[in-house]
Formats: sequence, structure tokens, C-alpha cells
Amino acid sequence: MSRPLERRFTADIASPGLAHGALHVLAGTGCCTAARVAGTPDEEREALEQAIAGAAEQLSELARKARPRAADILAGQIAVLSESELIGPVLEAIEGGEPAWSAFRDAVGLAIAERRTASPQARAEDLADLRDRVLRCLLGGEAEGPGELPAGAIVVAEALTVSRFLEVDWRRACGAVLLAGSPASHVALLARARGVPLLIRPDIDLAELEPGRDAVLDAEAGCLVLMPSPATSRDYDRRIAQRRHERDRKERWLSRPAVTADGMTVRVYLNVDDPALLEGIDPAHCDGIGLVRSEFLFPEEDGLPDEERQYRVYRALLTWAGGLPVTLRTLDVGGDKPVAGLTPKDEANPVLGLRGLRLSLARPEVFRGQLRALARAAAHGPLKVMVPLVTLPGEFDHARALLAEEVSALEKAGIGAVLPEFGMMVETPAAALNIAEFDADFYSIGTNDLVQFVLAAGRDNPAVAELLDPLNPAVLELIARVCARGRALGREVSLCGEAASRPECIPALLKTGVRALSVPPVALAEVKEAIALAEVGASV
Ligand code: PEP
Ligand code: MG
Repeated sequence: MSRPLERRFTADIASPGLAHGALHVLAGTGCCTAARVAGTPDEEREALEQAIAGAAEQLSELARKARPRAADILAGQIAVLSESELIGPVLEAIEGGEPAWSAFRDAVGLAIAERRTASPQARAEDLADLRDRVLRCLLGGEAEGPGELPAGAIVVAEALTVSRFLEVDWRRACGAVLLAGSPASHVALLARARGVPLLIRPDIDLAELEPGRDAVLDAEAGCLVLMPSPATSRDYDRRIAQRRHERDRKERWLSRPAVTADGMTVRVYLNVDDPALLEGIDPAHCDGIGLVRSEFLFPEEDGLPDEERQYRVYRALLTWAGGLPVTLRTLDVGGDKPVAGLTPKDEANPVLGLRGLRLSLARPEVFRGQLRALARAAAHGPLKVMVPLVTLPGEFDHARALLAEEVSALEKAGIGAVLPEFGMMVETPAAALNIAEFDADFYSIGTNDLVQFVLAAGRDNPAVAELLDPLNPAVLELIARVCARGRALGREVSLCGEAASRPECIPALLKTGVRALSVPPVALAEVKEAIALAEVGASV
């Protein structure tokens, strides 16, 4: 019998990478359609309430094990379950004699069609996910889990919901192909964060993707190869082995402590803009989180969401860190990060305008809400709070006083809260030069802004990019000055600007006395390697 010929199909890349294995078709992820015999309106209402409670419990269980971004997505789903806007019409329809299952299905269908939900992070895909889960609970259809996957399987499905994605053991599966979906979906975001290669919308029918078929998933070129020839298989296996080798090499650096060639220990923290990037990181590989840019945590909001959601997300970061410190920076908008309704319009020279802490002090209602959420989260672990773009000691002291006020108000109201350590970003020349006047619990040097202000060269202006050198002696002198002050007081000085993740800058930065760097998760391995190769000598 002749061997089936290799066939190639184009597909869109939702998460890059390569995989070679046998196709494993996931059983239908759609909702149960088996109609249940309708009871009286009272019985139907009770059945709906039980199904909603059951779904919420399942989602909470998944969220407990999930990393911060996935947990936030699931929390959005749980929040939808108590939205009266959604549940009210369902109850009315039940009162009118409709069975609970079809009333619920139709109400969610309408919310999806109208893109209407009070939880801004819940998208249409999350509502569909939720609908299927509640209907399974309601109709008694067992939620069919993905089951034990054969090692090295390539998962194939019509579509994948977030909760189903989280149920798959991605240590066994090596990639996935979805017939539907979008690179902007929550599932695509989680796949990228975990390094799971994902192709979507291949130019092929599900019927042709027979379980067990040998396949190559090329989410670098955007193609799916069915029944690859021996030569194609060899070529991809070699490339996959190469990628694995690179990954293993990175892993080795990740698992080593950050110590310079001459024995100086350096703390390495993470910068977190998108908590999804923590999905693939082991907290044991870092010293905690050195900078959370809170303005990027809620991309679907103009600024910050309500106190409750902020609190949940901040607490989830502490849960991820498992006892390591998490430094969260209060809202830093304005300048190159305008926010509708919050930052001034048509500001002349906004980079030098009402931004960072200045804006927070000008909008105390927003700032106080964030401080409350932070103080409540601080009751769950070592949260540190810092404020951006500080120029004068008075600004810093004022911010600290507002925090103290909010903590005591929370305590009076019997709401669990803790006064967190309170530090500052050092990113204006005035703050660096005058550092002795700032009574902060810790200091974090923001070289992105500091360099642009010291060298009078905009950080986003390619025409002056050459001037933007974090190793300029004027910049290094200011960094050394802040470090000396931190040493004298026994307070930590870290550096969280982009310079910290540039291997070529690390030796010079360490020679200024900096002993803590905060870098994006993707740079962690490379930074640890650069530290291990650096010699700081008896510089400080
Ligand atoms: C910095 O200025 O170096 C910094 C870390 O803050 P941002 O880049 O968010 O301004
Ligand atoms: Mg800055």
C-alpha cells in the first residue's frame, strides 16, 4: 500500500511555535442541547439558581489554580453570573412559563449579539463559555473534560473556550489547531503566554483532521502539514529540537541564582504590564515583582476599574508571587499615555505636564480608590506601593498621608487592610539630585524617564535616539547617588527602566551600586546570564 501524500494547508498564527505529533480531536465543546422536561416556574427558578451556583463553584475552583490573567478572565465570568441585567430577564421569562434552560440560553445569546455586559473584561467568547457551562449544569450533561491526552498530541477542536483551555494538560499536548477563533481571543493570549503553538482557521474541514494522523503544526510559517513526508518530518524534528535546546539553555539560567562572576548577589524582579506573561514563569526564578504598571492591567478600561476589581487583580498577583514581594506602581498616565476623561486634553508639552503622581494628586477620588484597593490587597501578602514621576518631597509626603488616611478609614469600617511599604520612582533629575530629602521606604529608578529628562531627548523620538544612553556619565552619577543614599539608610534601591534588561548595560549599572534589577519576564534568563558574567569588583 502506498503512503498517503503529504498535504499542506494554510492557517493563521495565533501563538507562534512548532509542533509535530498525532492529531487528537477534542470532543464537542458546545453546549448541551438535550432539553430537560420543564417544571413549574418555581422549580425552574430553583434549577437555574442551582446551576448558576454550580457553575460559579466550578469556575472558582479553576480560578484558584489559575495564574493572574486567567484568574481575572474567570473572575469576569463569575461576575456576569450575578448581573441582574442578565439574570433579570431570565427570571421574567421563567415566570412567563419558559423553561430555565432556553430562557438562559436566549438571554446570553442576546447579550453576545448586543455585546452587552457589565463586566468589561468578559468578552463574547467568555459569555459563550459561561453559557455552555451553566447549561451543562442545568441539563445534567456531564462536562466532558479533555481527558488524558497522549503525550505529544496536537489538539484539534472547532473552538476552544478559556475554561476548556485551562483544563488541557499542555505538558502533554504540544500544540493546537482551532477551526474558529481569533488571534486577539483570550485563548490566543493564554496560548502565547504559555508558549503553546496555536494555529487557527486552517483551510481544511474538521472531518479531514482524523484523530491519530501524523501532522506538523508550523505556527511560524502559518501552515498545517498532514502526513508529512520523512524528509519534512526530519526537517521539522531538527528545528523543534533546536528550539527545545534554546529553551533548555534559558531554563538553566532561569533556575540559577543571580550572582556576579565575583560573587555579588543581585536581586532580579519582574516588570509586569500584562499578567498573562506570568503564565509561563516560575516565581522561584525571580525575587518577586519589582514593577507592576497598573495603568496597563485593565486594557479595556479608561484608567482603572472599580475598587473591587482592582483589589481582586492585585491580590491575584500576590497569590502568584507566593510570599515574594510585589511592587505595584500607582496609576502613571498622562504624557505619552493619555487616558480619555482623566488626563487633560490639548496639554502643551504633555511629557512635562500633568502626569504620574501629579495627575493622581489632581484627581484624588481616583487615587484614593486605588490606594484603598492596594491597602486591602496588602492584607494578603508583601505588597509594596510606589508612586511615579515624583519631583518634590512634599508631593511624596502628601501621597503617603492619603494612603494612611485610607487605611485608617478601612480599619474603622472593619475592612481588612494593611499599610503597605511606600516607595517612589526616581525618574526626575530633581528627585535623584535631592534624594536625601525623600523619606521613602524604598526607591526604584526609572531610567526610561530619567534618561530622557537628563539628556533632554524624548524617549519615543527616533531622531534623538542616539542621545538616549543610560550609560551617559551624567545618568550613572545620578544612579550612584541614589544607591549611596539607599545604602546609608538601609533601604532598597532597584532599577526598573529598560536599561536593566540590556545585557550590555548591566556591568556598568552594577558598578554604580545597584543590587536589584527589575526586568520584563522575557528578559529574565538573559539578564541572569549577563549578571553571572559581570565583574563589579570593589566599586562600592
Ligand atoms: C521608567 O521611566 O523607567 C519606568 C520604568 O517607567 P515607565 O517606562 O512606565 O515610564
Ligand atoms: Mg517612567
